[in-house]
Amino acid sequence: MFAADATVTRESMPGLPAALEALQAALGNKVVTSHAVREQHANITTYLPNEPADAVVFAQSTQDVQIVVGLCAAHRIPIIPWGTGTSLEGHVNAPQGGICIDLSGMNRILAVHAEDLDCVIEPGVTRKRLNEDLRDQGLFFPIDPGADASLGGMASTRASGTNAVRYGTMKDNVLALKAVLPNGEIITTARRAKKSSAGYDLTRLFVGAEGTLGIITELTLRLQGIPETITAGVCPFASIEDACNAVIATIQSAACGRRGTMPIGRSCPCGRARRRWPPTCACRSRASPNASWRPSATSSRWD
Ligand SMILES: Cc1cc2nc3c(=O)[nH]c(=O)nc-3n(C[C@H](O)[C@H](O)[C@H](O)COP(=O)(O)OP(=O)(O)OC[C@H]3O[C@@H](n4cnc5c(N)ncnc54)[C@H](O)[C@@H]3O)c2cc1C
Repeated sequence: MFAADATVTRESMPGLPAALEALQAALGNKVVTSHAVREQHANITTYLPNEPADAVVFAQSTQDVQIVVGLCAAHRIPIIPWGTGTSLEGHVNAPQGGICIDLSGMNRILAVHAEDLDCVIEPGVTRKRLNEDLRDQGLFFPIDPGADASLGGMASTRASGTNAVRYGTMKDNVLALKAVLPNGEIITTARRAKKSSAGYDLTRLFVGAEGTLGIITELTLRLQGIPETITAGVCPFASIEDACNAVIATIQSAACGRRGTMPIGRSCPCGRARRRWPPTCACRSRASPNASWRPSATSSRWD
């Protein structure tokens, strides 16, 4: 979400009618101003009020995004990028009005480099769709924030989730980005190379920027092999300290990280859960054929 001017308000946007006219002339029926569509593209997942933008543009390409950004910059109108709208903190609201760019139509998987364990996709591809597409190649993208979010939105919120201990977060799994900057310029932040010391690390600057620096129109993501076995278990502990120490020991031991396993520590910090259960550690371990440590297939607990 970036504004042409941080002090802009709905009242101070005299250029809005002209911008809408120019957008409609350039993009036709990709520009929608109906109240229902605008409301669907504002916040619907929190206690925050729904604050719709003045129009929604359904972008199909980087060029569409570039047109919207150029016109909005010229008329000093805020822009709100939109992936699937699952973010929880009012990210997609437009309190000052503006133009929402819906990127869900940019949903092509452009390339899968199975041998290099990476892929290139458009920002509207959702994580479930990507994993369905990758499954028959024995690969998957491991970041799982719960929601079936778009990869562009996940990168912009630096999403993590239940697999973070084993695979990291979006900051560890985005190798490169293409983005449209507020001045309309298109940049590519890096290449597919796993190592490079050249230049600034712009990729990580954009990951988590919530659309304030530019609009992501392409992502290169790191992929993983699907583990051969996944085992889950729940261990009760006498105290929260014991549970935490077990998680620390597990992470530090040979039974994690490179060996292909993943513990999740959870000590039931909320009051209700504490009354009903002892401090508990939920674990999930993953192992691949070449891992030297493997969980027992019949094990119901971390051992
Ligand atoms: C049930 C549930 C559980 C969750 N659990 C977790 C969790 O465990 N860990 C965690 O980290 N998160 C969690 N989340 C949050 C989740 O990470 C976000 O909802 C998700 O990443 C947002 O993706 P989206 O496609 O819906 O983006 P949106 O909600 O559409 O947008 C999110 C932000 O990114 C910007 N944006 C979207 N696309 C682009 C783009 N292409 N370029 C630039 N900016 C863009 C938007 O303007 C907005 O600021 C959870 C959400 C839900 C609903």
